[in-house]
Amino acid sequence: MIDPDISYRLRPTWVEVDLDAIAHNVRRLKQIVGPRVALMAVVKADGYGHGAVDVARTALAHGASHLAVANLEEALILRTAGIHAPILILSYAPPEAVPLALAHDLTLTVYDEALAADYQREAEKARQRLRVHLKIDTGMGRLGFLPGAGDRLAPLFEACSQLDFEGIYTHFPVADEDAAFTAEQVRTFGAVVDQLRADGKALKYAHAANSAGTLGAPDSHFDLVRVGLAMYGLSPSELVPAPPDFRPALTWKSVVASVKTLPPGHTVGYGNTYVTERETRIAVMPVGYADGLRRAPSHQREVLVGGMHAPIIGRVSMEKTMIDISAIPDVRIGDEVVLLGAQGDERISAEEIGRNLGTINYEVVCSILPRVPRQVITSPGD
Ligand SMILES: *Cc1c(COP(=O)(O)O)cnc(C)c1O
Repeated sequence: MIDPDISYRLRPTWVEVDLDAIAHNVRRLKQIVGPRVALMAVVKADGYGHGAVDVARTALAHGASHLAVANLEEALILRTAGIHAPILILSYAPPEAVPLALAHDLTLTVYDEALAADYQREAEKARQRLRVHLKIDTGMGRLGFLPGAGDRLAPLFEACSQLDFEGIYTHFPVADEDAAFTAEQVRTFGAVVDQLRADGKALKYAHAANSAGTLGAPDSHFDLVRVGLAMYGLSPSELVPAPPDFRPALTWKSVVASVKTLPPGHTVGYGNTYVTERETRIAVMPVGYADGLRRAPSHQREVLVGGMHAPIIGRVSMEKTMIDISAIPDVRIGDEVVLLGAQGDERISAEEIGRNLGTINYEVVCSILPRVPRQVITSPGD
């Protein structure tokens, strides 16, 4: 493997991840939930494209005590990097994976009786207890026992003696837009938790809140919150924004590879979808859809060069993209381009790109492909 410090010079399109921004956001989140609520840093999908290992280490150093990922592979990357904090697997782990989960001290999610029985059998075979969290579906319609199945949960504890039921959780589909729906979920979930605890089931951690719940619904914090988006400095929605001092951590950069002036009536890019109306100075960037810069159905509108906004023109190619720099003086080969993030006083946010593409900031940061090198930077701001 090529040293990341060199590879970004070899292919000048890269992502900078500001770990001081992550540290600041994590400290603020911990402050918001208070000392009695644990903070679980959600680092699935390579830390929402920011780099799971660096984000996890930073979050753990600044107030998070737990981590969450989607699957076993993501968890093993963290363990291999020497991270020992508790890790919850949020999605499906096949029963064959139980020995690995045991060997690496991972926590699995139980949302189905047959799956619980399979985990029980595997844990028995290994003669070890497997730590699990139960998941309740209070409205997401995704993973989880329906609350009506409450009566079937208590027997599960007896049937699965090799499972250590450490926690119970649910998930919010609209905490960023519908407080009443979320409040109803909190009531439903709270009732299931209360009943089980009244039955003597210890369940150390009950948890429900994602970023939007953490920021917008304090009564949803229970014993632990699971925060992804806000930790990266991004806002769940306009209704539930990240506090103004939260700092976005990711900047996506490229450089100018070519500068030239085209005459009026000249075509630009595949499909001849763009034709210059007047004499136009264009720059080419060595970045395209093979890096995750979306081509279709619509592309990002603009980038930053020389501290100013420059529109993307023509189709995004696999490895190259053109911009109109007619209004920007003195652009030269090698100049920095910012596709996402700040340059000088200007900023292109993940939220804004999401609006242009018809998607959300989550998908914008997760769509930058792994082939784009991630470079850690620090920028102490407080
Ligand atoms: C991804 C995820 C989270 C984190 O959500 P954010 O909105 O990014 O804070 C929390 N819980 C579950 C179950 C998830 O899948």
